[in-house]
Amino acid sequence: MKTALPLARPSLQPLPWIKIGASRHKDGTVVITAPPVRRRCGGCTECCTTIPVGEIGKPENTPCEFLRTFTRDHGCSVYSGRPDSCKIWSCLWVLDDTIAEEARPDRCHAVFDMMGDELTAVFNATGKVHTFTVIQLWINPNYPLAYREPAVRAVMLDIFNKTGMPTLVRRAGNDVLVAPPSATESEWREKQCSPTDRKIAEAL
Ligand code: SF4
Ligand code: SF4
Repeated sequence: MKTALPLARPSLQPLPWIKIGASRHKDGTVVITAPPVRRRCGGCTECCTTIPVGEIGKPENTPCEFLRTFTRDHGCSVYSGRPDSCKIWSCLWVLDDTIAEEARPDRCHAVFDMMGDELTAVFNATGKVHTFTVIQLWINPNYPLAYREPAVRAVMLDIFNKTGMPTLVRRAGNDVLVAPPSATESEWREKQCSPTDRKIAEAL
């Protein structure tokens, strides 16, 4: 079934364990159902700044024009009419209540995206090209090293152990691919990633 999930590019797809529903009405309209949430956002509005929203031209790392903070109506001022991608999308912290409380995005300044992306690694020695799925982690620009905080690394480690997926830290064009230490190393692995073609020189 063809769905109308709003995607900036085809490589952006829900992570394999995220359940998005789709049903077709008699008139042919396809309705997308958001995945079930396990938590409420509370006072967090971090994604309304860090995540890009194509339908309203909102770039990443920019507060949405509809976001109200420090007011009685704190949050989205167009909530019932917000874009479809805002209705469908949630961060992993809201979708998975096994993720620690400390990893709530406004506390750790980092938002784990339910949409994965694809990266291409070109192996220097052989020239071979390898494409693989990554977790996306959006970082508040005021905290560029938030991805190294223990609460955030704990989530990255858990996902890596379960799925083998490394994390692409999205930092306003200064993206970095991150993976836990290998069996022979003690340090976390990091590699700069081109924001335009999403290529890295070699796999981690
Ligand atoms: S980042 Fe997550 S917890 Fe925070 S407002 Fe967005 S969906 Fe809610
Ligand atoms: S439209 Fe509302 S929910 Fe969507 S990014 Fe803006 S403030 Fe957030």
